[in-house]
Amino acid sequence: MKEIKTTCPYCGVGCGVIAAIDSNGAVTIKGDAEHPANFGRLCSKGAALAETIDLDGRLLYPEVNGQRVGWDNALDKVASGLTDIIQQHGPDAVAFYVSGQLLTEDYYVANKLMKGFIGSANIDTNSRLCMSSAVAAYKRAFGSDSVPCSYEDLERAKLVVLVGSNTAWCHPVIYQRLVRAKQENPDLQVVVIDPRRTATCDIADMHLPIKPGSDATLFNGLLSYLAQHGERNVLFTDNYCEGLETALRTAQYTAPSIDVVAEQCALDVEDVEKFFRLFARSERVVTIYSQGINQSSSGTDKANAIINCHLYTGRIGRIGMGPFSVTGQANAMGGREVGGLANQLVAHMDIENPGHRDIVQQFWRSPTIASQGGLKAVDLFRAVEEEKVKAVWVIGTNPVVSMPEADRVKAALQKCELVVVSDVMARTDTLDLAHIKLPALAWGEKSGTVTNSERRISRQRDFLAAPGEARSDWWIISEVARRMGFGEHFDYATPAAVFDEYARLTAYKNNGSRDLNLSGLAGLTEADYDAMAPIQWPLTTSMSSAALAHPCASPIEINRTCGTQRLFGDGKFFTPSGKAQFVAVTPRPPAMPTGESYPMLLNTGRVRDHWHTMTRSGKSPRLATHTQEPFADIHPEDARRLDIGENTLVSVNSEKGKMVVRARLNEKQQPGSLFVPIHWNDQFSHTARVDVLVGAITDPLSGQPEFKHCPVNVEPYHANWYGFLLSRRELSLENASYWSKSRGKGLWRYPIAGRNVPDDWAQRARQLLCTEHCDVGWTEYFDAATRCYRAARLVNGQLESCLYIGPNHELPAHDWLEPLFSKDVISDQERIALLSGRPPVASDDAGPTVCACFGVGRNTLVKKIREEGVASVEGLGAALKAGTNCGSCIPELKGILEQEFHRPDAAKWGT
Ligand code: SF4
Repeated sequence: MKEIKTTCPYCGVGCGVIAAIDSNGAVTIKGDAEHPANFGRLCSKGAALAETIDLDGRLLYPEVNGQRVGWDNALDKVASGLTDIIQQHGPDAVAFYVSGQLLTEDYYVANKLMKGFIGSANIDTNSRLCMSSAVAAYKRAFGSDSVPCSYEDLERAKLVVLVGSNTAWCHPVIYQRLVRAKQENPDLQVVVIDPRRTATCDIADMHLPIKPGSDATLFNGLLSYLAQHGERNVLFTDNYCEGLETALRTAQYTAPSIDVVAEQCALDVEDVEKFFRLFARSERVVTIYSQGINQSSSGTDKANAIINCHLYTGRIGRIGMGPFSVTGQANAMGGREVGGLANQLVAHMDIENPGHRDIVQQFWRSPTIASQGGLKAVDLFRAVEEEKVKAVWVIGTNPVVSMPEADRVKAALQKCELVVVSDVMARTDTLDLAHIKLPALAWGEKSGTVTNSERRISRQRDFLAAPGEARSDWWIISEVARRMGFGEHFDYATPAAVFDEYARLTAYKNNGSRDLNLSGLAGLTEADYDAMAPIQWPLTTSMSSAALAHPCASPIEINRTCGTQRLFGDGKFFTPSGKAQFVAVTPRPPAMPTGESYPMLLNTGRVRDHWHTMTRSGKSPRLATHTQEPFADIHPEDARRLDIGENTLVSVNSEKGKMVVRARLNEKQQPGSLFVPIHWNDQFSHTARVDVLVGAITDPLSGQPEFKHCPVNVEPYHANWYGFLLSRRELSLENASYWSKSRGKGLWRYPIAGRNVPDDWAQRARQLLCTEHCDVGWTEYFDAATRCYRAARLVNGQLESCLYIGPNHELPAHDWLEPLFSKDVISDQERIALLSGRPPVASDDAGPTVCACFGVGRNTLVKKIREEGVASVEGLGAALKAGTNCGSCIPELKGILEQEFHRPDAAKWGT
């Protein structure tokens, strides 16, 4: 058994992972108990990583115009395509659109090629969509994009405020650390500020269901309150800050009293007062914020309104306090560091600063350097649409799904002269539009570094051989650079060589003038780089090989091997004056108000077990089981008013587009609002790309789109038949007017619906479900009066597929059918059950999966609670193992327990 320490590729928590490979090459994954981000914990996504590393669906060879070619051919075509366009139309006619999934080394090389050698700043990243407002706010306040806190601060705080952050699902290990911290320290208070009552509210001492978009008013109100109650840290604000008077005056003008704040934020006066009092009295406060703040047309201002409150009280740079933006992707921070955003230079230097441009150009010895910011994501694809950008290279991301006005982005790419896409998968909505496809290495195959939300650099290490002809992104980009004539500047042999150059650049002419300094990591040997333990920047002291490889021994250890835990404890900031800046914030409402045609508000986000556009998490049966279908959460009152039933299909429409998804009635949703997840795309469903609906309205400072506030209407979607289909084989269902698919254990699931009724269901089923020997093995039933058709096909005694069709949404439950696909032979009793649509034994239906790690269904949990009186999460864990691995389902377990306790007949079973 070989064990390799690496880092989870999903979210910005950056958990350490150990991949163990046995002598047969089988991989198992566990959390790294020594990694300071997670100390051994993993969430459901991290725990299921081993299910995502197969080669199914991978892009393994370069292709040009749909034909497999050798690397030389493909790279020559990319280089000559870019060069020709640059020669004819100038450097700004080409663009790169990259990803927070890239390693820092990949990002560095891409940025160097574009900004230092092509001479344009047209390189932007999908991180623009998730945290560029946080970057802009930090830069306004601190003069640098510096996250001041560490995860340890959460455990040492007295109050943790979570704003617009469903931490339980989006940063689950941070949430787990908070749960533990609360258990160990009952005085720790948690306040959740979120329009939805999310799973994170499970640990909240207080939930403020704020009116969407009104966060700046709430924090302006807090600043006024702090002033009114004498909470200013006079020493800190007098000596280390500027701009207080104007910021405070603006806050007092826009949020003069608790009553006004409560009214504008649609909150109870008592709750607002309680929150303000709690914040005022808790010296150790960490405020965590993420997409709920950032994805707004005024996201930068909202983040600054939060930072203002921390500056006013001097709660920054010390243990247990600070404004803490947590990032969405594994290496969103690394991208920020190497200049992956179009408006930044490498190493946190500014593109508008001529001195910084000189430093970078000198260091790179480059012929040119971009002299002004490039196109941010939305503008970049607009420029493609307008044919100003004629070549775009998309690396490791899927803008046809994730960009606002996604259909417009798709149309722009369809007419673009040259589209190059580097990816690990052979089919994505974006890759399908590429002229040149370049196969990249995936997690487990590639090697380099990532930086997590607390500035901690960790190694991602390879433990799998490169498959087919896939190559690392830094190599691919360097080879293109070489073919464009810049070979001597991109002559890297290993990722360690790239990292070394980057580390030396952070130190070059720095002298303490810039926050990002990795001089302590410059000049590492290959062996030191390979062995490097997780460490937080800045880091200016060189270390021995032994110290470098030695991780922090405990969450509270502070020594030089841990790097720098906190910034700004010395009161020195990176603004021209060296002082932190208060920013006067005038709250603005969301850019597009709801109205008569589009009266409801659409909010988008993640679900517990999926990641981005599902290219990785969609491969895992475990992850694909919890949420199997795209959905819209809608409040029951709205559903009643709109004649929408639970689990029925609905059409969600905006000014920009429409989609069809399954309605879920959810009281945790505010009336008048919908929540739809971001993950589904054309590979997994028909018409379920939610960003087709969202308008491309951006924050004027950060360029981040307003994903959290899109006016829509919703109506029932009427089909002429409804059904579901389970099949061992992956199918093509292009004829259904609605379908989605998810992977189960040894099967694919397809909820379906259609408007065209086939003349002969039996014939249609055969066309759909088999390619050969289609006349044998069928057990079927058709009732013309009820318009029900049921069929199962058995091959060699095994269940191959089954199909259930009816005239409405009332279809048999199907969770119990899935285990039948694991059986070698289907019994007679099971054959009858297949047609009747009921399990042969009533208890066989486990219900929808709640605990993905151990496959525990809702019905099983309810039965345990009702029949055996199990009354706690711990009890369910002891009886069924549910919630005992990653813990991601614990909020749902609590929800089920609570629901059961409140059943009218609960007393019967002894609670
Ligand atoms: Fe990966 Fe989960 Fe950790 Fe995020 S919280 S890094 S998804 S294991």
